[in-house]
Amino acid sequence: MNPVFADLPTTVFETMSRLAQAHGAVNLGQGFPDDPGPADIRERGARALVSGWNQYPPMMGLPVLRESVAAHYARHQGLDLDPATEVMVTSGATEALAGALLALIEPGDEVVLFAPMYDAYLPLVRRAGGVPRIVTLRPPAFRLDEAALAEVFTARTKLVLLNNPLNPAATLFGQADLALLARFCRCFDVVALCDEVWEHVIFDGGRHVPLMSLPGMRERTVKVGSAGKIFSLTGWKVGFVMADARLMRVLAKAHQFLTFTTPPNLQEAVAYGLDKDDAYFEGMRAGYARSRDRLASGLRRLGFSVLPAQATWFLNVDVTGLGHADDAAFCETLVATHGVAAIPVSAFYADAAVRNLVRLCFAKADATIDAALERMAGVM
Ligand code: PMP
Ligand code: GLN
Repeated sequence: MNPVFADLPTTVFETMSRLAQAHGAVNLGQGFPDDPGPADIRERGARALVSGWNQYPPMMGLPVLRESVAAHYARHQGLDLDPATEVMVTSGATEALAGALLALIEPGDEVVLFAPMYDAYLPLVRRAGGVPRIVTLRPPAFRLDEAALAEVFTARTKLVLLNNPLNPAATLFGQADLALLARFCRCFDVVALCDEVWEHVIFDGGRHVPLMSLPGMRERTVKVGSAGKIFSLTGWKVGFVMADARLMRVLAKAHQFLTFTTPPNLQEAVAYGLDKDDAYFEGMRAGYARSRDRLASGLRRLGFSVLPAQATWFLNVDVTGLGHADDAAFCETLVATHGVAAIPVSAFYADAAVRNLVRLCFAKADATIDAALERMAGVM
């Protein structure tokens, strides 16, 4: 007889997308855009596929992409990365995160996490043998504070995992938050794994500060990015990891046994895309900001209380007082009765510390947003 395995949870994105399908709902749950992504990058990927980029590319990624990643982050974030030793291509940010956790955590090591957190973090930390130490961040500001950090950092802390900008909060940690965290990392000699997949999706003139750029953090930060978010190509699963060469050697060991590599035609197309000029990035942000405003003003007209969104593809609404036990119950009714799928934010807290927020994805065509709003009119 087989042993009984400790089960992993089912991701909320899979659960909600299934429900969306079952109910024929407008899906504002899982974060993916209606937009198919830039045509020239897709054509480039298709041409590379047909013209023969189809065998295993190098384990660390195509040199052309690693060079393009280094040049991209030098231009946009002032980082100085050696493409030969400090950049690695992964199959999405997810692989980068899983690999980094497997590579860097020994069973029993403590890992500092911040809730709300992307739902893959906690199961991955636990499977790597890490002991989670979670700081609860609360709406509407979701700020870090010194007392909370002082409570979770100990001599056993090996790693801190930060997501900036923060999904699902749609907030941005700025210089002051990062300086505070960096001080703790230096003081306790901790590695920071920084998931910065939303670094380009920031609105209203906000600026992304990479944690790696803070004093004393260059050698102890593993930075993670994703072409899925940069180019609205979530299905491509092309990610990148950047770290100092000493850390990278360890990260590469995990990557070689996880996926080894990532489809070469997609890597070639992403290398081309990363050279895009500022107009692309400004246009992308302006387009999403318009969609954010369309959904936010529609929801406010219906009477919802909408939290500000500084970044990401997500808006949060406060469902307190709408007659439901919590956010999960609200989402169940919303999808089953009104035909709109959304994500309960409590799914991003280990202990459901916050249960009154619902996340809606606005990376959608106007018609999709309007259809969702029409259906949601019945809720209020
Ligand atoms: N981290 C965060 C914070 C995310 O929001 C996402 C996906 N939206 C990922 C990681 C996963 O990225 P990828 O699809 O490149 O694996
Ligand atoms: N990152 C996406 C989100 O936050 C979902 C990715 C997934 O489905 N795993 O909605």
